[in-house]
Amino acid sequence: MAYRWETPASVWLEDERSGQFELVSSDGLGRIDWQAAARGRLADCAHLLGASLPQSCDHAAIYPEGFAFCPTCGRPLERLGIAPGRHPDWWGPYADALLPRHVPHGLPVTSLALGDSLEERPPAPEVGRFDAAMPPPPNAHCVFAAATFGFPEQRLLALAPGRGVLQYWDPLAEVWHVLLPEEGAADLAFGASDYGWLPTSHLQVPARRGDVALVPTARGLYRLAINPVSETCRTEAVLAAPVVAAPGLMRRQLGVLVRNPGGTLGLCGLGADLSPGPQFDCGALPLSGWTRPIGYDGQLFWLHGEGQLAWRPGEAPRWLAWPDTWLPSLDLGGPTLSRDGRMWLIGHDGQSYSFLELGAERVQARPQREPIDGARLGFANLLFRRGHPVVDEPWSGEHVEDQHEDDSLVLPLLRSFNNNRSQPSGLVLRFHKYTGRAEEALANRVIARTTVEWIGRRNVILDEVARLARPLECVPFVYANRLWLHHPDWNRIRGWNLEAPT
Ligand SMILES: [Zn+2]
Repeated sequence: MAYRWETPASVWLEDERSGQFELVSSDGLGRIDWQAAARGRLADCAHLLGASLPQSCDHAAIYPEGFAFCPTCGRPLERLGIAPGRHPDWWGPYADALLPRHVPHGLPVTSLALGDSLEERPPAPEVGRFDAAMPPPPNAHCVFAAATFGFPEQRLLALAPGRGVLQYWDPLAEVWHVLLPEEGAADLAFGASDYGWLPTSHLQVPARRGDVALVPTARGLYRLAINPVSETCRTEAVLAAPVVAAPGLMRRQLGVLVRNPGGTLGLCGLGADLSPGPQFDCGALPLSGWTRPIGYDGQLFWLHGEGQLAWRPGEAPRWLAWPDTWLPSLDLGGPTLSRDGRMWLIGHDGQSYSFLELGAERVQARPQREPIDGARLGFANLLFRRGHPVVDEPWSGEHVEDQHEDDSLVLPLLRSFNNNRSQPSGLVLRFHKYTGRAEEALANRVIARTTVEWIGRRNVILDEVARLARPLECVPFVYANRLWLHHPDWNRIRGWNLEAPT
């Protein structure tokens, strides 16, 4: 015999004999498989649901939402979910919807003012150390999202697109859990191009608890949702065509590159409410190898080794092959802006490097090219020539503050956009005593000594790393009021405290 308790969001059963409560259903979660006690998840589930926990008795391990007193003995309970946390969302450095329009979207740029707290640390040359660590998810090649997903508290997800595995961090038990796909859920694997999702919260669709994002897959574009109580995930088809590049959002229009039945490249438009939009056949264009789309100047740009596809919603997409022998160096970073607001990409013609103007709409005129005398690493005006910042035009001479930095190479990882600053600030890696080619440092070369640095009003050395390889696999993210840095080779994710929001 069991008593049934109904709260505004959930239904619980109370076992008459044991007095234990079991969750039967809860808004938006689908089927509940109540294994929380056996799986060591009771505390996490209580926080997720805003339920109550015992404080001074042990008549039940968990109580339904809103319970203030133990029904057996009357002692007060700990009520959760009353004061929701206010941590900012993180959807990957390329998915910040709060950046102003004059900053390119889709590059590793965050609107979070990370420098305000990181610059309080002892400045260089003092070498700092991380404040916190967490284990990496079992599938370590992944992207991270930190959001509430409609629950009272923020949680962290790690999606490994290569394996199609979605992982959930239980911060109370400090354990990663693999979320199992529910029956009929789509395979989340995606490997055709750079991975990128579109957070459901950026769209104009009614919010549902558990909502995560629109995710590209080899079968189609899906709306992904989680049930962290049952440790499962489910999908809902939005577009049933093989997706070949990360989807983009520009002025309430989604652009999705797909493989058409005839093998050509298609661009499917969707409204931000997911209503069907225009469809374009782009012809015989590549079906893999695209960058995440960059949103700038009212257009989405997908970049490729062979050219760029630009789409301004309301118009047809335009394919612009790279001119003559010029090839982009996409590993060196991404587009950057000149002072007049045009967007440029670094590349080379086999002989020397140059910046090429992107998206130039001139008829029968070649895009402008600006020669430079060596590789430059970075994106969105967080740009370095070897160890020195480039602060004027992308092709201007570097700003030499310290000659010693001639022997180092700086790789920008994340820019922190701040309207009040004249110089870009952000998170970088500095490879010490490295005078080889930039391309080799980014490939398989093992770099003996690397420092993790914050470049801002004051430069701060956050940590140092011995024997780093494949630095482009470093993934920064912000979660639970810390900046974290993950690399698939590391046995822990390093975290630095950010000030509590005031
Ligand atoms: Zn009690």
